[in-house]
Amino acid sequence: MKKILIAGNWKMNLNVSEASLLTKRLQDRIALHKDIEVVLIPSMLDLQPISLQIDRRKFKLAAQNAYHKDSGAFTGEVSFSMLRDLVSYCLIGHSERRHIFNETLEEVQEKVAASFRNGITPILCVGETKTERINKETNQVLEDQMQSALANITASEIESLVVAYEPVWAIGTGDFATPDQAVAAVRTIRQSIASLYGNAVSKNVRVLYGGSVNPDIASDFLKAEGVDGLLVGGASLNYAQFTDIVDAAFEVHHDLEKR
Ligand code: PEP
Repeated sequence: MKKILIAGNWKMNLNVSEASLLTKRLQDRIALHKDIEVVLIPSMLDLQPISLQIDRRKFKLAAQNAYHKDSGAFTGEVSFSMLRDLVSYCLIGHSERRHIFNETLEEVQEKVAASFRNGITPILCVGETKTERINKETNQVLEDQMQSALANITASEIESLVVAYEPVWAIGTGDFATPDQAVAAVRTIRQSIASLYGNAVSKNVRVLYGGSVNPDIASDFLKAEGVDGLLVGGASLNYAQFTDIVDAAFEVHHDLEKR
């Protein structure tokens, strides 16, 4: 059985002491669960101190971004090779990077390759804008984002991949997708992987939902067909809300096991 993944993206929030306090509160409240992975995604600055603070059986770390070249004259950038051994995962192609920083499909492709090359599992974020959904372009957008990101990746690398379906219009807006919309998008994402690597590989890839997740709706998405976890932004900055979301994952997992 695949592990449920609950990831908290802290975005550009919290200085080192604030991040440490949030980590302590989460560590005190969140129990160890062998079938649920909880991933913290602090700012680049907070990664190192938090890596020393966390119980690594309880939490894994992810970076929010990295540069695809391993080293060189790229002032201000941090490479995937520098993040080796510090993080297990890295967000790639988050909608804020695609839309605020104009990250292109080619850049996302290079980052996915660099991430795998350095032993870091990408959490590849894909999703359509409101206009694209209204124009019924969601499937095409998802296919384009998936196919371009995964060019040149081997089948064995792909099996560890994590994809996050994050409709752009649902991120940080309080306007979340319906579980049915998420199920349809996740199906398109898996079909896209299957067309490149076959059905067996596609089934093993974990696909998350992200977009204004809060404790009230977390279970609905965790129970949705094909959804293996959640990428949480705003609510992950609130220890009580993030703990409730992780607890919802515990409960859903427990119910699934009883079946
Ligand atoms: C995110 O940052 O990936 C995200 C889903 O944010 P929010 O939960 O705030 O919409």
